Amino acid sequence: MTEIENDTVASVHYTGTFPDSGEMFDTSKGGDPLTFLVGHKGMIPGFERELMGAKAGDSRSFTLEPEDAYGHPSDALVQEVPREMFPEEMPLDLGMMLMSDAGPFRIVAITDSQIKCDFNPPMAGKTLHFEVDVVEVRVATEDEISHGHVHGPNGHEHKQNDCCGDDSCC
Ligand SMILES: [Zn+2]
Repeated sequence: MTEIENDTVASVHYTGTFPDSGEMFDTSKGGDPLTFLVGHKGMIPGFERELMGAKAGDSRSFTLEPEDAYGHPSDALVQEVPREMFPEEMPLDLGMMLMSDAGPFRIVAITDSQIKCDFNPPMAGKTLHFEVDVVEVRVATEDEISHGHVHGPNGHEHKQNDCCGDDSCC
């Protein structure tokens, strides 16, 4: 049976909780399993490391410190942006998540002239606990390895106009 290692495609069900409170922040249960190409930086580093060697039917339970998950929050990723950079009619509230060319950010302070935007991942600085059930493991195809993502069900669907730029996959 195939074991999880770099260049395999793993499908897992997982539940993530904050170990301090036991509060659940994410789960795949009740939906499709999470399917990912191992060893291509699609997942947080500790998540893949803890699953190495696991086979279909195995369960793993582990807790990740921030450095193995979403890293520590950085002051450099908190930026003041002039209010006029946002559309005038756009309502802006503390804690709001918005999307920009530089990625998602959260509004952490508002004054008349400045909006303070936090680009740190929401999970930065958090210790995370995961319960994982391995559903399926298979060897990745050469196309998947060269593209860096999974093809097929639950994977990257190559549609027209949504191509990764490789003739062989669209
Ligand atoms: Zn592709």
